[in-house]
Amino acid sequence: MEDEFAFIDSITPKKTYQSRLRVGIGDDAAVYVSNVHYEEVVCVDTMVEGIHFRKDTLNARQIGQKALGINVSDLAAMGARPQFYLVAIAIPTTWSADEVREIYKGMKMLADPLEMDLIGGDTVSSPSCLMITVTAIGVVEAGSALKRSMAQPGDVVFLTGPVGGSAAGFSLLNEQTRHGVFTAEEQHYILCHQEVAPQVALGRICASSGGRIALNDVSDGLASEAHEIAVASGVQLVLDREEIVALSPQLHGVDEETGLKWGLYGGEDFQLLGTTSKDQLASLQQQASAIGRSFYPVGFVRAGVPAVYIKKEEQEVLLAKKGFNHFRHGDENDETKV
Ligand code: ADP
Ligand code: MG
Repeated sequence: MEDEFAFIDSITPKKTYQSRLRVGIGDDAAVYVSNVHYEEVVCVDTMVEGIHFRKDTLNARQIGQKALGINVSDLAAMGARPQFYLVAIAIPTTWSADEVREIYKGMKMLADPLEMDLIGGDTVSSPSCLMITVTAIGVVEAGSALKRSMAQPGDVVFLTGPVGGSAAGFSLLNEQTRHGVFTAEEQHYILCHQEVAPQVALGRICASSGGRIALNDVSDGLASEAHEIAVASGVQLVLDREEIVALSPQLHGVDEETGLKWGLYGGEDFQLLGTTSKDQLASLQQQASAIGRSFYPVGFVRAGVPAVYIKKEEQEVLLAKKGFNHFRHGDENDETKV
């Protein structure tokens, strides 16, 4: 690794997109103009080598894409338009400056189509593993942020796309690393794990509709995110087993039960999970199809003590709130039978 200042210079953007940016990288802090018609939406997430990624499961570009993507997904789940990001990185001697610059390229690849500007960060050394913390900033029309607490009995539960693909891909990478030999089908799931695609456009359709919509992004797993909506809104969510199976991985040689577990508990899918009225969903659906996308109905909301159920024909099974939890032991992170 070269000196810190040469490194910062090499990752400083040559041009920026956002007209409200006054001071970007190069001073003590960034400055941007605020606007009374919008609310600022801010989030931060950290990725630690050995916990969230390994050099043999993600390449440097994909690590960058993921570090920014998980934050952009949080902004999308609030209905925000992403605009800025800041990056704090702790670099061990096992990483070269070129590899770290690749991480920044990965972030830029995701940021450019969204017109997000890198406006600051911090660079330090690390004694062991690489750690990267990204802060993302966006805006949403005043009063339009989409909160988890907005679900009401009678709502439809929807997803913006398939779930469990990332877990399916990770199980392959965990066995063989990214240097393994994979079928085209396996490669599809591996990319679901490696290349985060946050659902900004669909989040924006939800926020700009002005409707009452509860929204959450699927980072820790569908079951866990559904629980968060249930608890925040004081309702029960009932998921349709058949719909979830249809959106879960169907990998050759893998049974339906395993596919469903990936779908419910896998996490890192970065789809959006939401609830809204039937009428509102129909109007969101129209706008989604105009951009070649869909909202998939996967269940309904009812009154009751906050909980999540999965339903097959007339039989309901209570879903445990599981998903990856850093401060629980491994066996508690295991899944139950559904
Ligand atoms: P200070 O001592 O004022 O914190 P630094 O030397 O840490 O300044 O940073 C100089 C400039 O470079 C600041 O604008 C800071 O936000 C930016 N910066 C530092 N490290 C990074 C990084 N890893 N990624 C992006 N911007 C960075
Ligand atoms: Mg600093």
